[in-house]
Amino acid sequence: MAINKVEIIPLGGIGEFGMNCMGIRYGDEMIIVDAGMGFPEETPYGVDISIPNFDFLEEYRDEMTAIILTHGHEDHIGALAYILKKYNLPVYSSRFTLALAEKRLIEFDMLDDVLMHRVKANDIVEIGNFKVEFIHASHSLVECFSLAIHTPVGTIIHTGDYKIDDTPVIGKPYDLETLGRIGDEGVLALLCDSTNATVPGRTPSEMAVIPAFEEIFEQTEGRLIVSTFSSSLHRLQIVFDVAHQFGRKVCVLGRSMLKNIEIAAEQGLLKIPHGLSVELSFARKLADDEVCYLVTGSQGEMRAALWNLATGSYKGMEVEKGDTVVLSARIIPGNEKNISRLIGNLYKRGANIIEEKRRLVHVSGHASQGDIKIMVETAKPKFVIPIHGEYRMLFRQKEFIKNHVGSYDDNDIILIENGNVLELDERSAVVVEKRELYKTFIDEESMEEIEYDVVRERKKLAYGGAISLVVAMEKNTNQLNGEPQVTFEGVAGIDPLNGFSAQARKSVSDAIADMKPDHIANRTMFKENLRIHLKRFVQKELSSKPVIVTTILEV
Ligand SMILES: [Zn+2]
Repeated sequence: MAINKVEIIPLGGIGEFGMNCMGIRYGDEMIIVDAGMGFPEETPYGVDISIPNFDFLEEYRDEMTAIILTHGHEDHIGALAYILKKYNLPVYSSRFTLALAEKRLIEFDMLDDVLMHRVKANDIVEIGNFKVEFIHASHSLVECFSLAIHTPVGTIIHTGDYKIDDTPVIGKPYDLETLGRIGDEGVLALLCDSTNATVPGRTPSEMAVIPAFEEIFEQTEGRLIVSTFSSSLHRLQIVFDVAHQFGRKVCVLGRSMLKNIEIAAEQGLLKIPHGLSVELSFARKLADDEVCYLVTGSQGEMRAALWNLATGSYKGMEVEKGDTVVLSARIIPGNEKNISRLIGNLYKRGANIIEEKRRLVHVSGHASQGDIKIMVETAKPKFVIPIHGEYRMLFRQKEFIKNHVGSYDDNDIILIENGNVLELDERSAVVVEKRELYKTFIDEESMEEIEYDVVRERKKLAYGGAISLVVAMEKNTNQLNGEPQVTFEGVAGIDPLNGFSAQARKSVSDAIADMKPDHIANRTMFKENLRIHLKRFVQKELSSKPVIVTTILEV
């Protein structure tokens, strides 16, 4: 049904870290902002990646007109292939973001089917009812946008990920001038990044880490290994620059980092002096103080270069006594244990470790409270809607703005959740519907979707183990043929000597003897009754809830 209000419907990224995706709807048209992946808590059950549940969009199939990507981080573009598989929509973004997105689509063999529109900062693109204006934003990545989405009921600003960086290493500062002009014309709502809303003050500029790096390069005599996010382009540029300044070559290890550097260098975003970057075979011949390794794996990821270097499983190179390892990254929530294990392994090998706690070797790419204040005061929106972050961060953004910025009260700052439908017009902003929204899980090996039920089943297996019951029945008489077979996998409380198996077999035999013949003849009912019987028996005897698999054989 066509509507004359704007609807904002987040599919992910609200109340959680990652998986950013949002539908914005007016009339009978909807645009999608970002399609990101997330990193679910269900990792122990064999899923490393989650994406929004795009089936949710089925009812809008005929209304959707475009996907707009704010920037190229995985939590904003990582689910692009999956949404495009379901809905073939044109994609709009910067040259760099599209280049990253294209690399992903090639892996899915989808590139030829997708229409990509390259846009630049300050472009205005008309998409049906919407006019989308791209505002240059500063962040830890390059060519990022905030969006001004002009609709018939007013302008909505989506900040994307941002910080107000006056001196980025690559590109220009955040374009406050354009934001201010749009603010003066009137802004209905500001959808504002909350990732760092709990942090007081301003987020330091990307430039702020240079002195610490200069010191480290100056003081280090042995080999230097710097690990950072493979997409932190400003940081990569700094490492190249400082290495050059102190006479070290740079050897990059890690596929994702090599790929990002290749794209960014091709597009002239990264500037690497000729001959500075060297292959591993060349680097190994250099003296310890003539080389710096720039590697992936700052989060302790077990497939990344740094983990392999720290555990002796990287071909042709390992961390040795006297090496200095710089972890130029923050800990992403959920990665604490992996990073701790990584650091333990590095210490075992005799490396010296420099973390952000000890030296200023990392700055965030997200807006702190001081940046949020500048954002709100420049855009001057009627309503603020905190996005991108756990609920705690959204809440703290609301509190901060209420207490420290202009004249905003409870009704002006609206906290929403994934699956909410927020309706906006010139005067009001109201959540009119709250829908249940599940995640979709992805298997990292095959990149295929895993059903929610499969993960639920795996969880049950992990907690309770499994019991297999096989019962052989005579076809003609419906009598039990021999003893039932009961086998256990990972069920606590059973050992071969305590007779539990024999008790379980007897209990099932007795139960079958008590059943009515027509209940046995109906095999579906028979099977289910056996399962329930055994489940109750196990629960009573062992107080555990294993998954029970019943098989009936006809003999
Ligand atoms: Zn980002």
